[in-house]
Amino acid sequence: MKKLIVIGGGFAGLVLCNRLLDKNSEDFLLLEKSDKLGKKILVTGNGRCNLTNEDISVCHYHGEHPEFAAYALEKYGQKALEAFFFEKGLMLSYEEGRAYPLSKVANSVLDCLRARLDNGGGKDLIKLNSSVVGITRENGYYTVFLEDGGKYSAENVVVASGGKSGQGLGTDGSAYELLRSLGHSVTELSPSLVQLKTSAFGKFLKGVKHKAAVSLFDSERYICSFEGDFLFVDNGVSGNAVFNVSSRIAETKKPYLKIDFIPQCTKEEIVAALKNKVKTFGFLSATTLLTGYVHSSLSQWIISVSGLKNKTLGELTGSDISLAVARVKGYVAPIEGTFGFSCSQVTHGGVRTDEVNEKTFESKLKKGLFIVGEALDIDGDCGGYNLQWAFSSAMAAAENFV
Ligand SMILES: Cc1cc2nc3c(=O)[nH]c(=O)nc-3n(C[C@H](O)[C@H](O)[C@H](O)COP(=O)(O)OP(=O)(O)OC[C@H]3O[C@@H](n4cnc5c(N)ncnc54)[C@H](O)[C@@H]3O)c2cc1C
Repeated sequence: MKKLIVIGGGFAGLVLCNRLLDKNSEDFLLLEKSDKLGKKILVTGNGRCNLTNEDISVCHYHGEHPEFAAYALEKYGQKALEAFFFEKGLMLSYEEGRAYPLSKVANSVLDCLRARLDNGGGKDLIKLNSSVVGITRENGYYTVFLEDGGKYSAENVVVASGGKSGQGLGTDGSAYELLRSLGHSVTELSPSLVQLKTSAFGKFLKGVKHKAAVSLFDSERYICSFEGDFLFVDNGVSGNAVFNVSSRIAETKKPYLKIDFIPQCTKEEIVAALKNKVKTFGFLSATTLLTGYVHSSLSQWIISVSGLKNKTLGELTGSDISLAVARVKGYVAPIEGTFGFSCSQVTHGGVRTDEVNEKTFESKLKKGLFIVGEALDIDGDCGGYNLQWAFSSAMAAAENFV
């Protein structure tokens, strides 16, 4: 019989257990279904682990009630995360507001979080290969049932089982059933921070990376915009700008993107400069019109889809130039779906937050049950916001046990 069982040794579960150890509390058991702790941490931030962001505020979070996240983000925000890792000898460095371990290697973060748990005396505190398939509560105690037939009991349970994204890394969403069985409800789940499917670009541009301002629309309704990396992939588009707008895709019926590949300049500025270019270099192929502004393949492609590829620059009319500039400043790409949970970084939706106390993370339905991290109906933008949420919620929940 333990005081606490933690289900899930991902980022939130590991932060919470470390917090307990920081406060000399060892009366817990961490159950992780994989053969290793924190597998997902290694793939975060392209293997560099983007831990947090200089600009943490609730406006970067989504869900039915994003304001639920405000208290924990305020109390255990970016500075608290920095201090938590600093105390363990890990320093962070910032690139365009995003924080990474100074080594720029995700393993440093994982090593730091698991050192006391799966080395030395900590071994008794964790059980790997322990997939929880059932939870019951009787006479004020929880019993947790494992797939292999084992069972453990405790006064309290923290569910830190993540969402449904990154499915090869232990999170297939089956843990939502545990919470449903205890009376909780789960909002509609959809993949977020995910590549979007579109056949608008064919294969010619595959692999081309660009900066762009991407706006998401639903029929005529504007939803949101983000500026950042944009990548053409097989049958779709990717990159930070696309990932960020994907977090709102669930609320659209007929989504399309409007992509501005030259967000730094107005149409008028570009047209004026291009009029000079065609005067000076009239002998060149029209496909070179936009080189100097965008990747040469993109210039070629825009000119082709505008029906101008057989002209020279000198043969382009004023309206040809305006047409090409209108396309490169607002290319419309209908969206046919997402690449799904297996490719997504985070799950939009989760356990209803109005069923959970925003300060303690205790269930309002079951005393002694706590839910943290991605399992809840809170997901963040791309840029360190999701690990920060896992951290903030885990730290707030840990306060109940120290
Ligand atoms: C490719 C990729 C890149 C990402 N990059 C970033 C980034 O750079 N910055 C950022 O902020 N976020 C990033 N994220 C998102 C971030 O990793 C997650 O939001 C965060 O890890 C959620 O933490 P968590 O502890 O709630 O869940 P997880 O980290 O998913 O951990 C849940 C754990 O619970 C275990 N588990 C699940 N069910 C059971 C069960 N029934 N019994 C026992 N154990 C169970 C799982 O095996 C897993 O170890 C990325 C995600 C992916 C997939």
